[in-house]
Amino acid sequence: MAEVAVEVRKLKNYINGEWVESRTTQYEDVYNPATKEVIARVPLSTREDVEYAAKVAQEAFDKWKIVPVQKRARILFNYQQLLTQHKEELARLITLENGKSFSEALGEVGRGIENVEFAAGAPTLMMGDSLSTIATDVEVSNYRYPIGVIGGIAPFNFPMMVPCWMFPMAIAVGNSFILKPSEKTPLLTEKLAELLQEAGLPNGVFNMVYGAHDVVNGILDHPDIKAISFVGSKPVGEYVYKRGSENLKRVQALTGAKNHIIVLNDADLEEATTNIINSAFGSAGERCMACSVVTVEEGIADQFISRLVEKTKNIQMGNGLDDGVLLGPVIREENKKRTIRYIEKGIEEGASMIVDGRERQSEEGFFIGPTIFDHVTTEMTIWKDEIFAPVLSIIRVENLKEAIKVANKSEFANGSCIFTTNASAIRYFRENIDAGMLGINLGVPAPMAFFPFSGWKSSFYGTLHANGKDSVDFYTHKKVVTARYKAPSFE
Ligand code: NAD
Repeated sequence: MAEVAVEVRKLKNYINGEWVESRTTQYEDVYNPATKEVIARVPLSTREDVEYAAKVAQEAFDKWKIVPVQKRARILFNYQQLLTQHKEELARLITLENGKSFSEALGEVGRGIENVEFAAGAPTLMMGDSLSTIATDVEVSNYRYPIGVIGGIAPFNFPMMVPCWMFPMAIAVGNSFILKPSEKTPLLTEKLAELLQEAGLPNGVFNMVYGAHDVVNGILDHPDIKAISFVGSKPVGEYVYKRGSENLKRVQALTGAKNHIIVLNDADLEEATTNIINSAFGSAGERCMACSVVTVEEGIADQFISRLVEKTKNIQMGNGLDDGVLLGPVIREENKKRTIRYIEKGIEEGASMIVDGRERQSEEGFFIGPTIFDHVTTEMTIWKDEIFAPVLSIIRVENLKEAIKVANKSEFANGSCIFTTNASAIRYFRENIDAGMLGINLGVPAPMAFFPFSGWKSSFYGTLHANGKDSVDFYTHKKVVTARYKAPSFE
């Protein structure tokens, strides 16, 4: 019997509470990276689509900003319940379009829900300050207000968590929102929008426009969009920060990373190797908090490396929906090729290859095995660049001071960890390392929703970070009211 061709679904934008077809004629394939199957087609929307979304969002903002904050928060409570009920379905969607393991996807959903829970505290978070008698008969109060339409631009590696860093808080404090998800992972965000509607969010408060640079430029240039939250790579983040600022918008841009983990002679090697394997190779190394470099004290280096290599050889690679899989595919064929180019560069520049990921490629999906290089130096490209793939570099150092010197040479400063039982070393590390998020005896020091996601140097452009109280400040502005009440004499 002849095979019947099944037409792949074309996605629609979500504007004003409706699924609307983009005006574009250009669509891009969305893949399941574990099978190479095309699972949807995403529109590369136009500036006109952004114009429409911005008009709708501006109108919605004018009504939404005066809804009492407690009522807005109740919608987020509903949303939290719905997301929790759909946890497994959401995680399956993440694994389907991103490739990470189901357990990591479930973890990501949990992180996203935490952001919604934090944002549901908006009534308390929005409180201002006041002082009853700042001068004779004069009092001062400080009120927070939403700022307008917010644009959010997200990467492919956390299709749920990263958008949830943005829109729950933005809308809880009274703004409206336009999300541009990554064109590589658009399916999960469809479900996020559907559930927001079910939670009772009025139409137009949250909108979603799929696409790539045309949508980003439309958001950056639109006069009604007052602030931009960006998460993605360094070159694009720099571009977004510059162009958004030039257009006089508030911009926060969370960008690339090259995270170093320090292992000292007194570290618990079992704990250190287990955590480092997970940090470097979980999510196929496609995490902004992934460990890319280990600086290990020479005294323990051979022992550490032999355990690490042993464990790396036992890593199960495969479809993230299968039990026991740690290492899924990278996102696209071009990312796999780029990873291979970096591995070749590492060899060419003189690093010692001790585990070669090229030996574990699989053509069923965009799979490349874990790679480890020893004797890496800070002159090498594999140390300098963010590879964003399962490639780990090891640098042997004399002591903690040298380990910190190596890490601080990097242009990035997102996260850094130390494995040691020495309290003085931990304190020295905390005081001297250049990084915004530190881990002590753990591998992925990603802060929870209540704290800022606070990269430094080329890992972040802006002032106020995502999450925590920073996010309340970023999505609001303040009115400070100074009032004089001429006091009659009551005596
Ligand atoms: P990316 O920069 O390629 O894409 C991010 C967003 O920008 C996407 O929505 C994409 O469509 C858009 N974009 C891409 N190229 C563009 C261009 N030329 N002009 C305008 N817009 C463009 O990033 P990615 O590959 O999706 O994600 C991986 C990167 O994100 C890594 O560098 C990673 O470190 C970073 N990241 C950082 C954090 C953090 O908190 N610092 C968190 C997650 C991911």
